[in-house]
Amino acid sequence: MKFTRFIVNDKVYTGVITDSIIREINGDIFRDWEYTGKTFSKSEVKLLAPLEPNQIIGIGANYVSKVEDLPNELPEIPVFFFKPTSSVIGPEEDIIIPKGVEQVKFESELAVVIGKEAKNVPESNVLDYVFGYTVGNDVTAPQYFHQDGHWTLGKAFDTFTPLGPVIETELDPFNVKVKARLNGVEKQNSPTQLMIIPIRKMISYLTRIMTLKPGDVILTGSPLGAEFVKAGDIIECEIEEIGTLRNPFVAAKESAKIG
Ligand code: MG
Repeated sequence: MKFTRFIVNDKVYTGVITDSIIREINGDIFRDWEYTGKTFSKSEVKLLAPLEPNQIIGIGANYVSKVEDLPNELPEIPVFFFKPTSSVIGPEEDIIIPKGVEQVKFESELAVVIGKEAKNVPESNVLDYVFGYTVGNDVTAPQYFHQDGHWTLGKAFDTFTPLGPVIETELDPFNVKVKARLNGVEKQNSPTQLMIIPIRKMISYLTRIMTLKPGDVILTGSPLGAEFVKAGDIIECEIEEIGTLRNPFVAAKESAKIG
């Protein structure tokens, strides 16, 4: 099932999308909802990010280029970071390159959407707590990575977390490819088997530290091939079974100079 949020005439709706038809739903997608009976054609709506995340947690540098490169031992403390919910945008919205930021890159990622409160969940049960999956673009300005290793600022600018186009609840996350095309040219294309810290381990680890809640989004890391972009570039992040998340990069009109 593919869940979506969308706007028609300035009103925000939630729905379930099949081919070109969207059926409006009422309620909370994580708990109780029902069809209202109202339908929209896909061509008459503007899609939004498919959810307003509760929290966004990312993992750093989580892919190798080939299976033989997967390490025998996993890092004891994985590199996790938070992204602010204010950085979320939807499909087709502009990713704004702040003034004074010279280097911005895209990172196409499989994004896990948590559906149930999860604390101390063993790896074997983790998927019971997952609602579904979307595509995330973990846009990054590495010049704002702190020299001591803190990544948060470089990933926190407004518009730096496109999500969408839908939440797919029936995905096999171990059998998909994470892709990106920059101006139509393929830059990333990796199966999720090339993740260094696999999804179950990643989420189980997080639940030993913090309670995960419905609407939490976990960005599972980007395959090799992310590149720097410039204003005017078009990025398409894609997982075929979910859809394509397309966004243009534009230059900021206002200065975002810090300090
Ligand atoms: Mg990333």
